[in-house]
Amino acid sequence: MLIKNGELTRELINYCDNIGIDLVGFANPELFAKYQLDNRPSSFLEIPKSVVIIGLYLYDLILDAWSKDENKYMNYHYADSILVNQCHKIKNYLAKNGFKSKIIPYKPGLFLKEAAALAGIGPIGKNNLLITAKYGSQVRLRALATEAPLLNGNPIYESNYCIDCDICIEACPANAFSEGKYNKDACLAYCLANLKKLSDNTVLWCNICIECCPIGKD
Ligand code: SF4
Ligand code: SF4
Repeated sequence: MLIKNGELTRELINYCDNIGIDLVGFANPELFAKYQLDNRPSSFLEIPKSVVIIGLYLYDLILDAWSKDENKYMNYHYADSILVNQCHKIKNYLAKNGFKSKIIPYKPGLFLKEAAALAGIGPIGKNNLLITAKYGSQVRLRALATEAPLLNGNPIYESNYCIDCDICIEACPANAFSEGKYNKDACLAYCLANLKKLSDNTVLWCNICIECCPIGKD
């Protein structure tokens, strides 16, 4: 059993790298106290010591497509299916090291991009999305709460990337950022009216604010 926090953390990072996880970070569960009970790690695991956040690089935005199986009344999100599979591998890895973990459901769950910022993966940008140095905002996220005593990251609260940039604000066709904060209703209305149909069952939502961010593209 790996008993030293740093050793276990390093080993887990290596393991994530070996199974093809693009991003991983660890957040202190106590930092979630500002959210409602339903959105705290302690709602999913009695005594969490860390929140493991993993990210998948949307190297092709087709990974962000949603598919609906009308017969089973089921929805599938391709990127999320990959992430859930990776979460199960991490859960098993930590269990072999003696630590219980719980995969956080998508809904109700944690605010994932905020969790990633609390883990120090990157800030939330003017586009209301996580920004990562390597992949910009072109990522999807999932999380596990764990009893493993991992070394938690330092939160990032401000986006230095956005200081002299307004690209996403100008690019949004719904003007959802025009009043200095994200207008969810305007975004949703635009997205629903402009779904990109890939097939009878599969659609892509507007991804302009993901695609237009220049971070990670050089
Ligand atoms: S496009 Fe510019 S302002 Fe918008 S999130 Fe990216 S860096 Fe920030
Ligand atoms: S998804 Fe599209 S409509 Fe919504 S905020 Fe982003 S760019 Fe604007």
